[in-house]
Amino acid sequence: MTRPTRVRFAPSPTGALHIGGARTAIYNWAFARATGGTFVLRIDDTDPERSTAENTAQILRSLRWLGLDWDEGPEIGGPFGPYSQTERSDRYAAALERMKVNGSAYPCFCSAADLETKRTAARAGDGAAGYDRTCRRLDPDTVAARLQAGEPHVWRLAVPADRGDIVVDDAVRGETVFPASAMDDFVLARTDGTPTYNFATVVDDADMEITHVVRGDDHLSNTPRQILVFEALGHFVPRFAHLSMIWGADGKKLSKRHGATSVEAFRDEGFLPEALLNYLALLGWSLDGETTIVSRDVLASAFSLDRISKNPAIFDVEKLEWMNGVYIREMPPAEFAERMLPWLVEAGLTTADDFYRRPEWYMTLVPLISERLKRMTEIAPALRFLFADAIELDPAAVEKALSSDEARSALAAAGDALRELRSWDAETIQTALRDLAESLGVKPKVLFQAVRVATTGSTVSPPLFESLVLLGRDATLARIAAAL
Ligand code: GLU
Repeated sequence: MTRPTRVRFAPSPTGALHIGGARTAIYNWAFARATGGTFVLRIDDTDPERSTAENTAQILRSLRWLGLDWDEGPEIGGPFGPYSQTERSDRYAAALERMKVNGSAYPCFCSAADLETKRTAARAGDGAAGYDRTCRRLDPDTVAARLQAGEPHVWRLAVPADRGDIVVDDAVRGETVFPASAMDDFVLARTDGTPTYNFATVVDDADMEITHVVRGDDHLSNTPRQILVFEALGHFVPRFAHLSMIWGADGKKLSKRHGATSVEAFRDEGFLPEALLNYLALLGWSLDGETTIVSRDVLASAFSLDRISKNPAIFDVEKLEWMNGVYIREMPPAEFAERMLPWLVEAGLTTADDFYRRPEWYMTLVPLISERLKRMTEIAPALRFLFADAIELDPAAVEKALSSDEARSALAAAGDALRELRSWDAETIQTALRDLAESLGVKPKVLFQAVRVATTGSTVSPPLFESLVLLGRDATLARIAAAL
C-alpha cells in the first residue's frame, strides 16, 4: 500500500536553528512538496532545562524566513496535534499502556547503584551489551506486588528474543545491519514517568502517520531501537533517510569555530533567504549533478531522496557569497531597491518615508552597487557617501590618494573643470576628467582616486562617474573644496 507522504522536521528548541537543522528542514519540506505530501513541524521540547519558548520562536522565524511553510504544526495546528512533545504526555502514557498489555514493556526496579554494579561486572566478564534483564525474569505476582507497593521503577522495552539482526534500509546510506546481540532492553519511560527520546519520537511518528524520517545521521544509531518500538506498537516502520553531517572547509564538523552557523546569523550577515535555501539544498543533494542555481520552486517540484549524497558536505562560505551575488543580480531592480531599504534604514542613512517619497531616486542607486555585491551588508557602507551631508575621509585613503602635491593640485584642477561642465552626466564627467589628466600629465588613475577619496571618503566606492552624478554637482564641488 502506498501511503501519502508525511514527513516531519522535529527540532529541539535548545538553541537557534543552525544550518544543519535548516538543511534537514529544507529536505523534508521539499520532499513533501515534490510528492504532494504533508510537511509536519513538531517541537521536541522534552529537555525542560534547555528548551525555551524564545528558541522555539526563533526556529519558527528562521523557517519562515527561509520560505519553508509547514502544513501542520505550531501556530497552525492540524489533525494530529498537539505538535509539541511537552503537550503530548497523555499519548506517551497511552502508548506505554498498550505495550504493557501486549507484553512489550516491563517495569524494572533496579536502582542506579544496582545497574552500576551490573555494568562493572559486565565489563569484567563477556562484555554483553546493556541491561542484564533481571526484572524481565520476575514472576507476574512479584511484579504486581512491587508496583502496588509503589516501588520506584522505569519501563523497559522487552526486545523479542527471536527478533534477530535489525537491518536499516536507509534511502541514503543503503543497508546497515545492527546485530541482535547489541539490542538491549532500553528504557522507554523514566522513574518520573517521562518518556525517553527514542520512545517519544516513535510514538509521535506513529501517531502522526509519518512515512519518511529524514534527519541527520547522528541519529542513525538510534534507528534500530526506534524500529523495535514501531514493531512493539504494531505500527508500520517508516522509511529512513539519514543525511551526512556538514563539515567546515578544514574537514572538521561544522561548529561555531567556523563562524556564523545559525540561520539568523546568516541573515544578519547579509545573505538572502533564497540564496541560503539554494545553497543548503545543494549541500548534499543535486538536481542533475551540475545545475547550481535551483530556485525554491524547482526544489519543490524536483526534489527526490535518491539524489541525496552520502558523502559529507563541505560548507564553503565563498560559494554561498557567489550564489548570493547571483540572486542579487537576477532580482528585478525595483525589488532590489525595496529589499535594500532595511539595510539603509538600519545603518541610519535614511527612512522608509524618504524611500516611498522618491522611489525613482533609489532605483538609480541599484545599478551603482548591485554589480559587485556579495552581501546585503555591503550596501550601506558603499552608499553612505550619498546620504551624509559631510563625509569623514578615511585617513588611510587620504594618505594613499591625497598626500602628494601632484594629487592635490590635480584635485583642485578637477574641481575647476567640473564647475564648468555644461551637463552633469557620467559620460561628460568622465571625458572631462580624462582630458584634464592628459593635459596635466598625471595618470588618470591618480586623478580619479583623488576625486574618489575627496567625494566618497574612501578608495573603494561604486563606479566613480555614476556616483558623482548621484551626488550632484554642488555636493561634489563642496567635498572637493573641503578635502583640499
Ligand atoms: N529532536 C531531535 C533532534 O533535534 C529530532 C530527531 C529526529 O528527527 O528524530 O535531533
